Amino acid sequence: MIIAIDGTSGSGKSTTAKRLSEELNFLHIDSGSLYRVATYFCIINEIKSDDDNLESKLDDMNIDFDDRKILLNGKDITSEIREHYISDSVSDFSSNVIIRNKLSDFQKKLAKNRNAVVEGRDIATHVFPSADYKFYLSADIEVRAKRRYKQMIESDSQGIDKKDILTNLIKRDQLDMNREHSPLLKDKDAIEINTTNLNIDEQVNLIIKTINKE
Ligand code: C5P
Repeated sequence: MIIAIDGTSGSGKSTTAKRLSEELNFLHIDSGSLYRVATYFCIINEIKSDDDNLESKLDDMNIDFDDRKILLNGKDITSEIREHYISDSVSDFSSNVIIRNKLSDFQKKLAKNRNAVVEGRDIATHVFPSADYKFYLSADIEVRAKRRYKQMIESDSQGIDKKDILTNLIKRDQLDMNREHSPLLKDKDAIEINTTNLNIDEQVNLIIKTINKE
């Protein structure tokens, strides 16, 4: 079974997907972290998003997992990919169709013959269009910025400014929703949950109730 959860950054998607996968004992695939790894890979190797040889250069990018850690060519980069400079460039790299195809294939491989909760921007519309359940999480931009700020403070990120986070969210929404290839949008079959006034327990319970009802 595949449960697709799409939505913007700070909509509560990741925490909900993680909790849901634990409660159901499903695999959790955070596709945003894959786009962040690809961005990190390109930045450290000085590869631009419009590089003519991008496809072959990406052959050297091997993503792996070790428990909850994400590894790039064997190196743990779990914290690094949450840094602000990655958030600042990720929407540029993720608009590239070569990167998208590679990471979509990777997600399909990870979920093959598994029960999985997959979260991202294009899961219901593009990666798993026949997912068993589709949810679209949204929330007011100020609340989303506050949540991201809290997460970054908790993860010890340095030199964070609340205003920069808000600016970054607005910029990413704009790029992610308007790009040519698999933009962020609510699938016609997705159930929308506005999490502005919900806590995590309420969000997870709402999704579990919906799944049990159908
Ligand atoms: O979910 P998160 O905020 O970590 O995602 C980072 C970025 O990765 C998004 O802003 C978006 O540009 C990209 N992304 C995407 N498609 C997905 C998941 C994430 O384009 N399925």
